[in-house]
Amino acid sequence: MDKQQEYVLRSVEERDIRFIRLWFTDVLGVLKSVAIAPAELENAFSEGIGFDGSAVEGLTRVYEADMLALPDPSTFQILPWRGARQGAARMFCDIATPDGEPALSDPRQVLKRTLDKASAQGFTFYTHPEIEFYLLEKPEPGEMPKPVDRAGYFDNVPRGTAHNFRREAITMLESMGISVEFSHHEAGPGQNEIDLRYADALSMADNIMTFRTVVKEVALEQGVFASFMPKPLFEAPGSGMHTHMSLFEGDRNAFYEAGADHNLSPVARQFIAGLLKYAPEITAITNQYVNSYKRLWGGAEAPSYVCWGSNNRSALVRIPVHKPGKGQSTRVEYRAMDSAANPYLAFSVLLAAGLKGIEDGLELPEGAEDDVWSRATPSARRWATSRCPPHSLTRFRRWSARSLSPRLSASVSSTSCCATSARSGRRTVRR
Ligand code: GLN
Ligand code: MG
Ligand code: MG
Ligand code: MG
Repeated sequence: MDKQQEYVLRSVEERDIRFIRLWFTDVLGVLKSVAIAPAELENAFSEGIGFDGSAVEGLTRVYEADMLALPDPSTFQILPWRGARQGAARMFCDIATPDGEPALSDPRQVLKRTLDKASAQGFTFYTHPEIEFYLLEKPEPGEMPKPVDRAGYFDNVPRGTAHNFRREAITMLESMGISVEFSHHEAGPGQNEIDLRYADALSMADNIMTFRTVVKEVALEQGVFASFMPKPLFEAPGSGMHTHMSLFEGDRNAFYEAGADHNLSPVARQFIAGLLKYAPEITAITNQYVNSYKRLWGGAEAPSYVCWGSNNRSALVRIPVHKPGKGQSTRVEYRAMDSAANPYLAFSVLLAAGLKGIEDGLELPEGAEDDVWSRATPSARRWATSRCPPHSLTRFRRWSARSLSPRLSASVSSTSCCATSARSGRRTVRR
């Protein structure tokens, strides 16, 4: 037994933990949990806990169903919402076959393998997500859920549900070792955003899974519920999970080159070129639901076109402008990912595409400096509007005229740059 495992056993005893939940995710990023008694812990560390892999979406076939969950002791945390006495704790797990081989379809290990590739090239991959979600009132039977308020971007709502909610959620996240950088009301009614402080991609993917659970728990405690659905309300903005990414070589940010165009090193330019080249494939993972395409196609600052730009919130990849002397914070922001994505797989494909860009020395096309939504041709606009229910479209226009820049309400196709995963987008809009 190693030191970390011993630490877990000691903490369980000293902190009066009654249940240890072993967490992992299915292919869609749905959290799976099996609770074990403290007496089972040693066995879980040495042999793993067996379960039916074929009952987990995307894991195994029915004739290879026996799988093992092996807890990672470095992820041990007490669950604050379960109380101090006879409490509960959790650890994330790696999934293995009965022979002890890592499961190829375990999302956490897919990410680990991609991170290994990066580290073989000398890179550490850091991410920081901006996570948007809605707080909704519990609906009466047969009614649609209603947002908890009518506030908008950065609105201060004294004593509002959202205000208390964010305070509680952030306190709970920090007590679990997850640092929060910013939080605010977002543009949609009842929509909120919490941004996590950057961390290595594996810890961050674990943090996002914990984040969703904490947010849902705190919401329920306050008599409302939280939704990470990409586009829960047709007439309001969707919930994105914009992700900021950087590669470090030791202590040095490999994306930074002082004095270069946008202070971007060749590595950064090739990384972005990789993201753009593989954006359609990436979108299948970062935007995995039919509902995801309603966000990408629904305006309100969700990207619809494959392009990059500095300080441009209509682009798929944005280079945030950083203060002089802050080269270490050079990063690229990928804006398509939504709040319902599987973070392990999403980070894997983003990193893999960026690394391929570096490996193949891809050229970065010219950046977009304009509002790319306004490039839509009249026929594309007619095409998109003919596929939206007229009453919803009117409501969307009315809402966006009040709360957003009116040009964003025209979320239509363009001929000059290709639409993000255009095929899937079209299929969705038709439904
Ligand atoms: N909600 C927008 C999206 O879906 C983002 C808005 C913003 O953060 N500026 O991507
Ligand atoms: Mg933000
Ligand atoms: Mg936001
Ligand atoms: Mg952003």
